[in-house]
Amino acid sequence: MTQHTDVVVVGGGQAGLAAGYHLRRQGLEFEILGADPAPGGSWQHMWDSLHLFSPAEHSSLPGRLMPVQPGETYPGTKHVVDYLTAYEKRYDLPVQHGTHVDAVRRDGDRLLVEADTGTWRARAVISATGSWSRPFLPAVPGRGVFDGRQLHTVNYRRPADFAGQRVVVVGGGNSGAQIAADLALDDRVDTTWVTRRPPRFLADYIDGRALFDVATARRRALEEGRSDSGGVASLGDIVAVPPVRAARDAGLLEAKPMFARLAADGVRWDDGSHTGSDAIVWCTGFRPALAHLAPLNLRGPRGHIPTDGTRALGEPRLHLLGYGDWTGPASATLIGVGRPARDAAREIAQLR
Ligand code: FAD
Repeated sequence: MTQHTDVVVVGGGQAGLAAGYHLRRQGLEFEILGADPAPGGSWQHMWDSLHLFSPAEHSSLPGRLMPVQPGETYPGTKHVVDYLTAYEKRYDLPVQHGTHVDAVRRDGDRLLVEADTGTWRARAVISATGSWSRPFLPAVPGRGVFDGRQLHTVNYRRPADFAGQRVVVVGGGNSGAQIAADLALDDRVDTTWVTRRPPRFLADYIDGRALFDVATARRRALEEGRSDSGGVASLGDIVAVPPVRAARDAGLLEAKPMFARLAADGVRWDDGSHTGSDAIVWCTGFRPALAHLAPLNLRGPRGHIPTDGTRALGEPRLHLLGYGDWTGPASATLIGVGRPARDAAREIAQLR
């Protein structure tokens, strides 16, 4: 049986909850459909030692401050999951966990949302499915011949899983630096860190809070027609969170350039030398999880859907939330998603 509602939000992570908060404020009826069986979005799947790069008070969704985690300046992932779980409850958000949306299609003046548990007809859809479920692996020669273990960021948990092993970590972003630091700080693991370009560490005093300020200043400058400062990306790639700093300062985070190819027993460099390895951890990023939107035929360059703010250019009843800066500055962060969520809910309310 098809159910009817004003708005369906696809994805029950932080972006989906922020959308729910603002849809409620607009007085709209909505359902949030999330594939994960439990609250917390992708935070519940991240590695054990991961901590936020901003203090709790700078990591909050609209309406409710994240409480400080006792003894931690930068909260751990379990604290974030607890916060999101409490947030969902506090605002009594109608999240149907364990519901995977397979397709969104046009159906006259409505959008039809087909999930594994049922079908909804809605005036608008907010897609907030993140990117954790679409890990990206680069095409590297020999990837199929390597005999050891190959993992992506999404499969990495803790150094103990690699005790006594030689591990190559690939990637010069935050995940690569943090996982390389996690492994390098454990004496039981022989770690090699590999990056395509020399790693660019941000100054030690810059954390997520400062990055958010830079993103905000950039947004204001662009809105006022001033020149583009280049934003966060112009400052560097890697936030020097405490473990990264510790590993770097101990000389354990010296990156090697990208290897030429994989062999059965390790990696080979351009000069013909060889590093034996038991495992490769690919920290090579993600793509937005947009497969459910394929029937709308909206895909643009780089797998993104072209938007004006959060609204899809080719389908005004569809909004995209989270994912990255292309859906709003800092939209893919806890503190940044509130503003685009508010704008999306306002625009949807005006569709009436
Ligand atoms: P997600 O948390 O991924 O939630 C999306 C939800 O949608 C998931 O539950 C998924 O199961 C569901 N879903 C996917 N497809 C479907 C479908 N077809 N149907 C139904 N449901 C679906 N941000 C910060 O603010 N501070 C930080 O310190 C920080 N650190 C980060 C560290 C790492 C390693 C990573 C990867 C990201 C970090 N971020 C940080 C960025 C961002 O806050 C997180 O990625 C966050 O999880 C994004 O939230 P989201 O709701 O957009 O996506």
